[in-house]
Amino acid sequence: MKRVSVMVSFCLIAFAAIFTLSGKADNVPKDENLVALFADLHITAEANPVHQRAGLSQCIQDVLACNPRPANVLLYGDISFNHGATNDYRQLRELIKPLEDAGIRWTACFGNHDRREAFFNVFPDRKSEAPLVPARLVILIKTPNADFIMLDSCLEGPVNGGIDDAQRAWLQKTLAEYKKPVFVGAHHPIRETGVADLMVSNAACAGYIYGHNHTWKQESTNGVATLCLPSTGHWGDIGYVLVKMTTEGAVFTLYQRDYYTPRPAAKPEDVKPEWKQRVQKNNGNEWHVTFKR
Ligand SMILES: [Zn+2]
Repeated sequence: MKRVSVMVSFCLIAFAAIFTLSGKADNVPKDENLVALFADLHITAEANPVHQRAGLSQCIQDVLACNPRPANVLLYGDISFNHGATNDYRQLRELIKPLEDAGIRWTACFGNHDRREAFFNVFPDRKSEAPLVPARLVILIKTPNADFIMLDSCLEGPVNGGIDDAQRAWLQKTLAEYKKPVFVGAHHPIRETGVADLMVSNAACAGYIYGHNHTWKQESTNGVATLCLPSTGHWGDIGYVLVKMTTEGAVFTLYQRDYYTPRPAAKPEDVKPEWKQRVQKNNGNEWHVTFKR
């Protein structure tokens, strides 16, 4: 009798392991207090380069290997390789499918390399009939302990970013009424979106999150705590960030697996020692935020 139950448990474990390895373990729980942050994907559908696609896929596999898994993945812009080609977004649709298959929600904001029309051609369901701000993709993601506002800082041409008056007015009004902790963010740094003055004396504002510079970096800008995210695979710090939230605060952990610029080394012996050192120094770093109440 005992031997039979041991056999049964062994089979169940083996069965679970096979499903986990195949990425189809729909029984892995999702945690609404966990959010994964991706930035600067720079996906291309061209045959070369391949490392941006490989980098994103690795980040997605890492998220799927979490137990529990984050309920949300937020993409902080520069999804497209360079000029918002429709095929880049079609490629994203393919690459991100494992997240969708696992029931993980993903949400994107635009960077300077994105184009609204091409994105919405590929993802028409993501164009709201009642947008928070007209003609801009402004997003509010709710989680149990803190929310995330993703602004639309794409100017469809220049490298720098900014937000229009309507977006600023919406943010001002929204933050004025906010009681719950909220992270404001965009693809571009806070100096370019110019929202520090709306955040600095607001107790609900927990920090500002952005991409664009492909560098894990924490600063205080005009009194606002800011975090710059790594790139999933283009150049610079390579990896993603996992946020764990409680009623007290949030811990952002960096999962960095590589560093290269302007592109990965062609051969292992071409990897510069300072690249390896940077990964060793950065990987596992944390950014701690305490919620004010
Ligand atoms: Zn970028």
